[in-house]
Amino acid sequence: MAPSHVLRCCQRGLAWIPVIFIALVVCWSYYAYVVELCIFTIPSTGEKSKFIYLVVFHLSFVMFVWSYWKTIFTRPVNPSKEFCLPKAEKEQYEKEERPETQQEILKRAASSLPLYTRTGAGAIRYCDRCQVIKPDRCHHCSACDMCVLKMDHHCPWVNNCVGFSNYKFFILFLAYSLVYCLFIAATVLQYFIKFWTLCRRKSAENCPKSELPDSHAKFHVLFLFFVAAMFCISILSLFTYHLWLVGKNRSTIEAFRAPVFRNGPDKNGFSLGFTKNIVQVFGDQKKYWPLPIFTSQGDGLIFPTRLVTTDPEQPTVVLPPNSFRCGQPSPPSESQNRLLCDNLQANDHLEIVTVKSGKP
Ligand SMILES: [Zn+2]
Ligand SMILES: [Zn+2]
Repeated sequence: MAPSHVLRCCQRGLAWIPVIFIALVVCWSYYAYVVELCIFTIPSTGEKSKFIYLVVFHLSFVMFVWSYWKTIFTRPVNPSKEFCLPKAEKEQYEKEERPETQQEILKRAASSLPLYTRTGAGAIRYCDRCQVIKPDRCHHCSACDMCVLKMDHHCPWVNNCVGFSNYKFFILFLAYSLVYCLFIAATVLQYFIKFWTLCRRKSAENCPKSELPDSHAKFHVLFLFFVAAMFCISILSLFTYHLWLVGKNRSTIEAFRAPVFRNGPDKNGFSLGFTKNIVQVFGDQKKYWPLPIFTSQGDGLIFPTRLVTTDPEQPTVVLPPNSFRCGQPSPPSESQNRLLCDNLQANDHLEIVTVKSGKP
């Protein structure tokens, strides 16, 4: 076995450590809450509240584990075959050493593709590693060693790329982990306070209501509160930030570096308005929003843009409203048709205008 292959295997194995750590903490929190708190600590006189605690706890636990699982095991999506250079062009591109000529080859190959973003220098975005023309919002992840559609970031806590295929799951994972930790912290708080007035008797039944029995359960109660409160604080900031990103229709990468369109960088280039931005990630059926089931709109290759500009190097896109809809004949191209149909369906009031060289 080649040393580089062994190294790669070791790296892959080590990348699971944060996930295993989280899984162990979650398993312990389940045991500590259900067994040590609900069975050993809450006295039998509190059966009613114990029942409510257990129902709500299991609901948040199931949703949290389900969304975490989906975030980890949903594979990132690569650009489709139409974004690969045809064989002849690829050979020509590889032989060519002058960047300007390479760009000409890429421009020719990209002429039939629905691309609206460029590099900072105005060139076609091409990944030499994957040998593919990058669709809008697609980026190469060095950890996954592949181009990922609408890449947001590579998350070590899920050992996966967060992108088009699992962004909704990631947001739900943050939301349910916050609910899980908040619920634990809120219900354990009263027993955490009692920890400081420990009763010397070992059984909950023999202790006054204001005191905690002096059993091994007391340490589980103590750490449950600390761990839940600590995770609450760290998840809350991340969750708030991603909600803001969803509202703006930006990925983390785009928040740091605005996508470059034909008329220059535009950080709001993909924003369609608050409600439609949420629908882009969560889908148009509200009943599926809380479930970790894929309902995001589009195919990850094409995204409706705020302003569809004409690109002299691309076939003419769009135009008069009502000129065509999905399924009707004579679209400019299949992919651009999808772009427009997304736009027309998602945006009745959204201005789709033709702009030439930045002039309306
Ligand atoms: Zn790549
Ligand atoms: Zn990655």
